[in-house]
Amino acid sequence: MSAITRTVSILGVTGSIGRSTVDVIEQARAQGGAISVEAITAGQNIAALAEACRRLRPRFAAVADAAQINEVRAALSGLDVEVGAGASALEEAGARPADWVMSAIVGAAGLAPTLAAVRRGAAVAIANKECLICAGPLMLRAAAESGAKLLPVDSEHNAIFQVLTHPAHVERLTLTASGGPFRTWTLEAMAAARPDQAVAHPNWSMGAKISVDSATLMNKGLELIEASYLFEMPEERIGVLIHPQSIVHSLVHYEDGSVLGQLSSPDMRTPIAHALAWPERIAVSTNRLDLAEIGGLTFAQPDLRRFPALGLAREALRAGPARVAALSAANEIAVEAFLGGRIRFLDISRIVEEAMAALEGTEAGLIAKTPSSFGEVAAVDQAAREAARRIAGSLAAA
Ligand code: NAD
Ligand code: MG
Repeated sequence: MSAITRTVSILGVTGSIGRSTVDVIEQARAQGGAISVEAITAGQNIAALAEACRRLRPRFAAVADAAQINEVRAALSGLDVEVGAGASALEEAGARPADWVMSAIVGAAGLAPTLAAVRRGAAVAIANKECLICAGPLMLRAAAESGAKLLPVDSEHNAIFQVLTHPAHVERLTLTASGGPFRTWTLEAMAAARPDQAVAHPNWSMGAKISVDSATLMNKGLELIEASYLFEMPEERIGVLIHPQSIVHSLVHYEDGSVLGQLSSPDMRTPIAHALAWPERIAVSTNRLDLAEIGGLTFAQPDLRRFPALGLAREALRAGPARVAALSAANEIAVEAFLGGRIRFLDISRIVEEAMAALEGTEAGLIAKTPSSFGEVAAVDQAAREAARRIAGSLAAA
């Protein structure tokens, strides 16, 4: 057993990844790890933030909404923690001096605080795929300039990271996908799928947004983009395989014919522990993998007719970073509308597709150009959200 010493911050401490990170930190402390917590953030759940403060004893805690400042102060009084609220407080959480930062806010909302950590050269554990996707090349450049280390936490990317011993000799990558809750559903059944069915993932317990993305396979599309950016691999050299057991978390194919993968039970505490301890390893208690009990591992090609989101993501990746940012932003709006009961399940991919087509028409200049600043990324993001809202509105009214 080895003990690690780290100062850490957790952006999005109250979410699914955030709570698993707290658990891993407590387990590391129990093994003698000296882990002090600099900053934690939450969206709106002040009670959960207070609970995290009691467990972690951070120096700074912040919520997303500036209007909640008095409520946060009251809830955290007596805990000896500095308090902040609003966008600048979230950014401060990323900027404060922690060696290691978990980026686990959901959506592009995580970009500014994650970037603050990247710019000061921290080790940044990337769970929040949307922030990497919306500004990939700029984020990677910022990391190269500051010396920040990006540690992939998404299980597929963490798996690849673990077996990427010889990057120069890789032929291609395969991302595995569980297939989500609708893997075996007909298109007709999917058309009537409700939000509670879409978030009921068979293997993983996750936040609502990523659960819906897993049901449309947009999650795998976003992960394809994430892999392309993180591992500098072109779209045509990244494959996707449906693997319903979620045991093989991805594969790296080498030019000598070797295929290396990482296996574990589907539990995010494994990749989180790997990222936290990197380049060491620590012990973490999970459901241990028992292959004899599972009996068989199966693999199949994804069905692009029922899951068009995967094709849309491939197209966006081929088109370039602005299209990618627009795709992810439009998807956020569409998922929100579906979870709010305003549109139907199959409308999600339809809205993304139509939003891309609309932008190609009205914002051709914006969408064709590789954003050279975060301001340009924000402009693409906003235009895509507006287009998606307009289309969602007309589908809801129909
Ligand atoms: P979640 O919804 O459970 O948690 C999201 C966190 O972000 C919460 O702390 C929430 O309070 C905070 N938040 C939400 N909106 C915010 C805003 N506008 N401003 C600031 N904070 C806000 O989500 P999750 O499942 O933990 O996923 C987090 C990220 O990790 C997502 O990008 C997801 O794709 C990625 N991820 C999650 C899993 C998983 O197993 N849950 C696996 C791989 C990748
Ligand atoms: Mg994943």
